[in-house]
Amino acid sequence: MVVRFAPSPTGALHVGGVRTALYNYLLAKKHKGTFILRIEDTDQTRFVPGAEEYIIESLKWCGILPDEGTHNGGKHAPYRQSERSALYQQYAEQLVKSGHAYYAFDTAEELNQYRATAKEAGNGNWTYNVATRKGLNNSLSLSEDAVTAKLAAGEDYVIRFLIPENEEVTFVDDIKGSVSFQSAQLDDKVLMKSDGLPTYHLANVVDDHLMEVTNVIRGDEWLGSAPLHVLLYRAFGWERPHFAHLPLILRPDGNGKLSKRDGDRLGIPVFSLDWTDPHTGEKSSGFREAGYLPAALINFLALLGWSPGHDEEVMTLERMTELFSIEKVGKSGTKFDLDKLKWFNQTYIKAADDAELIPLIRQTIEKEGLSNNSYSDAYLSGVIALMKERVVVTHDFVTKAKYFYLSPEYDAAFMAKQWHDAGKANIKGLISVWEAVSEENWNVEELQTVLTAYMQENSIGNGKILPQLRLALTGVSGGPESLAVAALLGKEDTLKRLEDVFLATI
Ligand code: GLU
Repeated sequence: MVVRFAPSPTGALHVGGVRTALYNYLLAKKHKGTFILRIEDTDQTRFVPGAEEYIIESLKWCGILPDEGTHNGGKHAPYRQSERSALYQQYAEQLVKSGHAYYAFDTAEELNQYRATAKEAGNGNWTYNVATRKGLNNSLSLSEDAVTAKLAAGEDYVIRFLIPENEEVTFVDDIKGSVSFQSAQLDDKVLMKSDGLPTYHLANVVDDHLMEVTNVIRGDEWLGSAPLHVLLYRAFGWERPHFAHLPLILRPDGNGKLSKRDGDRLGIPVFSLDWTDPHTGEKSSGFREAGYLPAALINFLALLGWSPGHDEEVMTLERMTELFSIEKVGKSGTKFDLDKLKWFNQTYIKAADDAELIPLIRQTIEKEGLSNNSYSDAYLSGVIALMKERVVVTHDFVTKAKYFYLSPEYDAAFMAKQWHDAGKANIKGLISVWEAVSEENWNVEELQTVLTAYMQENSIGNGKILPQLRLALTGVSGGPESLAVAALLGKEDTLKRLEDVFLATI
């Protein structure tokens, strides 16, 4: 089995693209096959600098880098279509020779004129097809000599595919099932453009053949091109790969495809990584920078259209590989459910090693401008232990508990309610008993023992000291156990906070 992910470098990688890459990856790994990354950059007008690097970085971050491609070569190199242009010319000529394609000399102005005239006459969309081709400026209507003369004179031309007349063509899509179409509905698509570059259709089919691709897995939007591809394979006399067209990823309300604009509106990143469009300067956010773990995103995306057939949800890439099959991919679109993604992310964060989380926390600390302080790995591991159950995205380790990194900012409402005379007196007393605890014994058990003894001796109820302790240490009303926070902050910082709260004003 050989599969490929064949993005055009026209911008950032949408989650739909990541999912397409993922399904290709899973299928290749399951069958111990090869996964190729091919860059389809023949349309120079849509080329965006940096997009290819972005795609590779995204796949790397997701852990689904292909086996062969522009990033690491392979036996089917080159993998960038712009570096393969000589090949396409040769194959297009082959089709002309075998009578499946022809030269067309019509200028863009002439074609525009035909379209405009048809529109004015109310004849709908004019197309270059079986009905019109004979009357146009091409090698079907011109004499052989005239064609030779035009080519010799260096006149601009394109090579068009000769769609067979009135034929019903049927093929089986591995997801959609049997697909039938009438050849008369297709137009004579351009295969080679006048600039000597192939169109997507020709390059895609030639490369899938030369790269020995056995299974084409791609988005639904290409289903409409599949009939043409089927005819191209037949014209070349090549065996056709299996086709599988993946259902769309829909907006959360199920109303249409999830677009970047919907994502912006709903606060859902639709790209894998942050992206700045080099032409417009427009910035878009990605899942990585939004604090999602790649394993969570991948797990979520795998189930966005595929199901293992039972209720197993949290799966490693290896497990998904084991269970994956194209037959279990649904036919219709799947809604993007952000809450579900958040749930996956929480689940993966809870299970993550500190070593994975610590660098991400450091990045957020930096981004939040708290980098003047340096925290040891042990300290950050302590924060992770206390916050793991409470975070949704990795930023939350910092933004939901800034008091681990900065002196508390006192929440006014909490302060107004809890910072009364009795509470103040109790904190004063607590300072003096905790001062007597040594640095070595500064842990939750010891702090608890001393606190309990102090409360008993002075008949202090929970409500008259615990909220005040929390207030002094964190400034906010929710969060992890105060004694665990005090243990992590250490003796010096804890006592300083208990003193400082007296200086805070409402
Ligand atoms: N270059 C096409 C894209 O950008 C590839 C379609 C296909 O996989 O055949 O999606």
